[in-house]
Amino acid sequence: MVSRVIPVDPFDLVIFGGTGDLARRKILPGLYLRFEDGQMPEDARIIGAARGEFDDAAYRDFVRAAIDEFVPKAKRHKESISAFLERLHYVAIDAKGEGGWKELAKLMRPEIIRAFYFSVAPSLFGDLAERLHLHKIAHRKSRIVVEKPFGHDLKTAQALNETLAKHFKEDQIYRIDHYLGKETVQNLMALRFGNILFEPLWNAQFVDHIQITVAESVGVGGRGGYYDKSGAMRDMVQNHLMQLLCLTAMEPPSKFDPDAVRDEKLKVIRALDIPGPDAIVRGQYRKTKSSPSYREDAENPDSLTESFIAMRLHISNWRWNGTPFYLRTGKKLKSRVSEIVVRFKEPPHHIFGEETGTHANALTIRLQPNEGMDLRVTIKEPGPGGMRLIDAPLDMTFADALGKEASDVPDAYERLIMDVIRGNQTLFMRGDEVEAAWAWTDPIIADWEARADKPVEYEPGSTGPEEAAILMHKDGRRWREISE
Ligand code: NAD
Repeated sequence: MVSRVIPVDPFDLVIFGGTGDLARRKILPGLYLRFEDGQMPEDARIIGAARGEFDDAAYRDFVRAAIDEFVPKAKRHKESISAFLERLHYVAIDAKGEGGWKELAKLMRPEIIRAFYFSVAPSLFGDLAERLHLHKIAHRKSRIVVEKPFGHDLKTAQALNETLAKHFKEDQIYRIDHYLGKETVQNLMALRFGNILFEPLWNAQFVDHIQITVAESVGVGGRGGYYDKSGAMRDMVQNHLMQLLCLTAMEPPSKFDPDAVRDEKLKVIRALDIPGPDAIVRGQYRKTKSSPSYREDAENPDSLTESFIAMRLHISNWRWNGTPFYLRTGKKLKSRVSEIVVRFKEPPHHIFGEETGTHANALTIRLQPNEGMDLRVTIKEPGPGGMRLIDAPLDMTFADALGKEASDVPDAYERLIMDVIRGNQTLFMRGDEVEAAWAWTDPIIADWEARADKPVEYEPGSTGPEEAAILMHKDGRRWREISE
């Protein structure tokens, strides 16, 4: 198999917040892996910029430690690490003041792609954008990468878009949602639009319903204060689940081009109905003998914020009329699983008789763990004894299918950062898309606030509140088991 990698031009990448948690765990190890894979041009440079007085040598030590901790052993080669560290520099900078900006300006090379990763608190995004211009560091070949959360509601997202737009054009702004960088998410598009098999069936006539699950096994401990101001709806649904929903439901774009794809996603968000209270279940994990409750983790005994949400949504358009989309996400659930399940309808007529039971095809697209796809098909149970039917998997785990180790499938951050350098915005959210998602989210949250809606409790390590199961049962359906 010959792999074709689109080459990358030389670049200077500045990571604002280059000493933070995200930089340490994801961005820097990801960049090292791209380097190790030979995907970084000779003269690429990475500049950490943060609060704190490091020099280049101390920053390189910091990054070496991050690589040791977060890169799989098989990929940690002494020579590669040393060569990678040579590319690193550090500038102590104050996003809100003048400190460090002249030094940064001096360090940047002219006429080379400049990428600025804003891996700092969102309250600093505006300051960074402004100072990059004030100090004439941003030029036309510059682009900025903006981390989540992108706003807290429509108003704040609009304000943030306006601030960024003062200094950067839309084609320079990369709003990152790392779910879009997952191999499987892109494969969802390949599957839908690169095959003749699925698209004719991908509509209300043949699809019974779609489930999107993003389950986390950890609680909010440690960042409970921050989380309590957002909750599952703002933290997960408005961005990650919404993006997965869009890619699953969108019409075929005319080409695989950033605006063509994002136009189609935007249409899905705009066609999304606002669900009523009976279509939403909100939950908080309860206390056990060995672990604190959500409210204890959040240090807010009266908190009304949800650590779990399940909802039934409808998309008001021709393709999906009558097909429900069930979304659920939560903390402290049974295991860490992200997947999309497309459950097809049963065949219209059962020729094998009632006793063979009911069978329907289901396509599961797994984002984690074990990125891959699984298509359940109905077959005859092998052996004598009559026509008994069973559901069997046509399984495709990418690691198996492509003969790769799971650790060879690039992490979302690696891929997305390289897309920034290549100038490809397809897997990044456009400003109007983010605003449309907030415009849909805001009235739902406003309704909870107006009614002081109280989340129900659920058992840590479970699949969520009983009410979430009932939401499906009432429709004669059930959630797929949350399991690894
Ligand atoms: P962090 O608190 O660990 O790091 C913050 C970084 O910003 C540090 O390097 C710090 O020196 C720098 N900084 C703070 N104030 C500064 C100032 N005035 N001037 C210059 N630099 C300053 O934060 P984090 O967890 O790395 O998160 C960074 C961003 O990424 C946030 O927007 C966060 O919402 C987002 N994010 C983080 C994660 C994660 O897993 N950590 C996941 C998704 C999104």
